[in-house]
Amino acid sequence: MAKTLLQMLEEIGVSLVDEMLLKVLKLLEKGKDVPEDAIAAKLKIKVNATRKLLYQLSSRGFVTYNKKRDPKKKWWYLYFWSLDMDRIRALYLEHKLRTLQQKRAELEAEQKFAFECQSCQRKYSYEDALETDFSCPACGSILVEAKPTKPVLKLKGEIEGIEKEIEIIAAAKVAKPKAKPAPKPKAKPVKKKKKGK
Ligand SMILES: [Zn+2]
Repeated sequence: MAKTLLQMLEEIGVSLVDEMLLKVLKLLEKGKDVPEDAIAAKLKIKVNATRKLLYQLSSRGFVTYNKKRDPKKKWWYLYFWSLDMDRIRALYLEHKLRTLQQKRAELEAEQKFAFECQSCQRKYSYEDALETDFSCPACGSILVEAKPTKPVLKLKGEIEGIEKEIEIIAAAKVAKPKAKPAPKPKAKPVKKKKKGK
C-alpha cells in the first residue's frame, strides 16, 4: 500500500519540529494549488505568517507554488501552493536505496562465516572452507553450510520488504503517463549453494 506523505517524511528522518509546518503539509495533502489566504484562514493565522511557513517548506523542497497577479490589487500576487510529491517521492526513494545498500552490506558481513564444523562448531568463511577442502582445520571433521542465524533471517526479510517498496514506488512513477502493467521480474537471483562433500 502506498504510504502517506507524512509517513514517508517520517521515515526519511525529516523532523518537523514546528507543529504548524505539519498542519500546513496536512492541508496541502488534501488539495492542489491551495491559495495561501485559504491556508491562513484554516490555520487561523495571518497570511504573512502562513507565507513564512510555506517558504520554510519550500526551501526544503516539499512544496511548490504558482503565482498569479491579483485582479483586484495591482502589483500584488496571489500564491497557490501544492505539495511537491515528485520531489518527496524522489527523496524517499533515495532514502530506501541507501537503506537497502546498508542492509545488504550487513547481510554480507553476517553471512561471512557461512560454514560450520559439525563436531566442534567452529565457523569458517567460504574461502577458508574451500581451501581446506571443506574439512575443519582444527579437528578434521566435515564442514557444512551453517544454518542461517536469526540476524540473517531478519535482514533477509527486511531486504525483501524494502525491495518490494522500491518496486511499488518505481511502478507508481512509471504508471503515471500510461498505466501499463510492468512485467514482473523474478524477485532476486538465487545464490548458488556450494556443498561440502
Ligand atoms: Zn572442527
